[in-house]
Amino acid sequence: MSAIVSMNDLSKSYQLGEEQQTVLKSIQLEVQQGDFVTILGPSGSGKSTLMNMIGCLDTPSSGDYTVGGKNTADMSEKELAALRNKEIGFVFQQFQLLPRLSILENVELPLIYSGLSKKVRRNLAADLLGKVGLADKLSHKPNQLSGGQQQRVAIARALVTAPSLLLADEPTGALDQQTGKQIMTLFTQLHQEGKTIVMITHDEKIARYGSRIIHLLDGEIREERGQGV
Ligand code: ADP
Ligand code: MG
Repeated sequence: MSAIVSMNDLSKSYQLGEEQQTVLKSIQLEVQQGDFVTILGPSGSGKSTLMNMIGCLDTPSSGDYTVGGKNTADMSEKELAALRNKEIGFVFQQFQLLPRLSILENVELPLIYSGLSKKVRRNLAADLLGKVGLADKLSHKPNQLSGGQQQRVAIARALVTAPSLLLADEPTGALDQQTGKQIMTLFTQLHQEGKTIVMITHDEKIARYGSRIIHLLDGEIREERGQGV
């Protein structure tokens, strides 16, 4: 098995005026290919900071972060941007779709600079929208869809570059319980198909969908349940 994500003694601090606040403390974390890891913690425990670190949107204050076998400290900004664009699919609580574009165009967007022809890009985007159950809505604008449907579009968009890692921060946080469950059914299906998923949540019930649950409290990993993959 190969580790996609490997954090070794990683810490993150912010300077707030005179004070230094350590938000992530000596994190040891390995995510293997095919894992569905959920990171569970209350508000303020450092979940989003950890997600930003895993997604290479932020850099550690100390320690090492290796992703896809490469130490991020040795990567140029250009290499990091390429990694973010191609290898990591992001899903957020507030979908973050572009309101003026159709959902097909939203899903196609990460492929704009891929070198693929428009026809191929459109076909890939349409296939993924079919997979998430929205084949009949390709020309709709995001605001013509329900919250759950918009999150499905965001998931299709995250998958369109065939990333090695799907990274989701509170993907059900803006949805009612029933719709949240449907999104988790989709994640479970993606996991069964072999996708590697890291999902952050404050909701214990939602965390249970993962094959590994990691508890984050006060910036520290406190407990891990499950065997992974
Ligand atoms: P969670 O997502 O679990 O709610 P966050 O990672 O957003 O937690 O925040 C953890 C802690 O780090 C909070 O105390 C927050 O105020 C602090 N924090 C997050 N981002 C910054 C920042 N850019 N500057 C200073 N403090 C921050
Ligand atoms: Mg958060």
